[in-house]
Amino acid sequence: MFNKILIANRGEIALRVVRAAREMGIQSVAVHSTADSDAMHVRMADEAVCIGPPSSMQSYLSIPAIISACEITGAEAIHPGYGFLSENANFVQVVQDHGLKFIGPTAEHIRVMGDKITAKETMKNLGVPCVPGSDGGVPDLETALKVGEEVGYPVIIKATAGGGGKGMKLANSAKEMENAFRTARSEGKANFGNDEVYIEKYLGTPRHIEIQVFGDGKGGAVHLGERDCSLQRRHQKVFEEAPGPAIDAETRAKIGKTCADAVASINYAGAGTIEFLYENGEFFFIEMNTRLQVEHPVTEAVFGVDLVREQIRVAAGYDMSFKQDDLQVLGHAIEVRINAEKLPNFSPCPGKITQYHAPGGLGVRMDSALYDGYSIPPYYDSLIAKLIVYAPDRPAALARLNRALGEMIVDGIDTTTPLFHALLQEEAVQTGDYNIHWLEKWLEENTNPA
Ligand code: ADP
Repeated sequence: MFNKILIANRGEIALRVVRAAREMGIQSVAVHSTADSDAMHVRMADEAVCIGPPSSMQSYLSIPAIISACEITGAEAIHPGYGFLSENANFVQVVQDHGLKFIGPTAEHIRVMGDKITAKETMKNLGVPCVPGSDGGVPDLETALKVGEEVGYPVIIKATAGGGGKGMKLANSAKEMENAFRTARSEGKANFGNDEVYIEKYLGTPRHIEIQVFGDGKGGAVHLGERDCSLQRRHQKVFEEAPGPAIDAETRAKIGKTCADAVASINYAGAGTIEFLYENGEFFFIEMNTRLQVEHPVTEAVFGVDLVREQIRVAAGYDMSFKQDDLQVLGHAIEVRINAEKLPNFSPCPGKITQYHAPGGLGVRMDSALYDGYSIPPYYDSLIAKLIVYAPDRPAALARLNRALGEMIVDGIDTTTPLFHALLQEEAVQTGDYNIHWLEKWLEENTNPA
């Protein structure tokens, strides 16, 4: 097993990895920008190295700075968390070239899945069902219009390099195609340096269902069921749960096996998530994330596993500690993402936390890097806490979420907490009867959820 690992990330996920490492008897190294000198992950890790100024480009995304931090501290492996360099194939290559281990899949798997067109092609060939649409890239408007006719409007134009909800445009008719096509291309170019786009049928009432997979890198793989992440704002998840309210055991076993077999056949290593839209009982692949997801704790809760520990084990060459038959869903878990944002516009709201109290008690997990007196810097993502509740069934989990939200105190800044108080009052949330468009509509109708 490794003696020391470095965590190339910040915030709650860096802390999450420090905690897993400590339980495994592994030393942890935090890296941080000058804006994060007082951050919790820096305080909690065994060692810390300052790797640059506040700008992510010069710190958390600086490959030379991170590799140097490994060399200085003698860390043998790097956990990338999510975001930042976690899906950067070039980074993985550099890590390997320096004789270090990357805690995640190979550079090649990251490259294939990072390009949505090749990802879709690969999944299709592995027997995974995909959203109907163009065969690969769409080079010009003429082809786009032809695909629109064939697939039927509305369609969605997506940048192959897109992510985080960026580089996606809807066209309701041939008339809207020109504008949507051009905007998707330019957003792809501006945000990801790649203007290649493809086209998919736009689904009207799907749920977002994603399957957690885990591979040993040697042809073995399991699935850990699904997460329903249908409550989204601007294509970004805000509320996630496992198991999915619309998925039964038979459906889970079937789609789970398809996904596990697909990743096993490519010798995939570590954690991965295969994302689908699910409509009228059918699954349609949209993308694969080759890393740990923000919402991984709901899966950990219902399967009783530690996914970060498992990632570290597999990267160190150990076998997975569970087999498919060991993995049974028990109970229900929900996660809500608490952001430092001001409602109703969700504008970023960094600043000093004057009082902080984390909720606790039975079945409550708060993954956060906050503390009393902490100043949230303005340079990074606005996620400040993930509140995860676990209970024997969905109604009990909702009641527990309500109770835990009531206990939580984050003073000094605005957060998205009032949104969740309001959502819990809604019948659709109580019954689980929603799709990916529900929250956007609800927000339009309830401009001031507080
Ligand atoms: P990103 O990589 O930016 O997260 P995804 O391809 O995963 O992009 O899509 C993000 C979200 O966008 C999905 O969860 C869903 O809400 C919406 N979406 C994506 N594709 C479609 C589609 N074909 N029809 C309707 N909504 C879609």
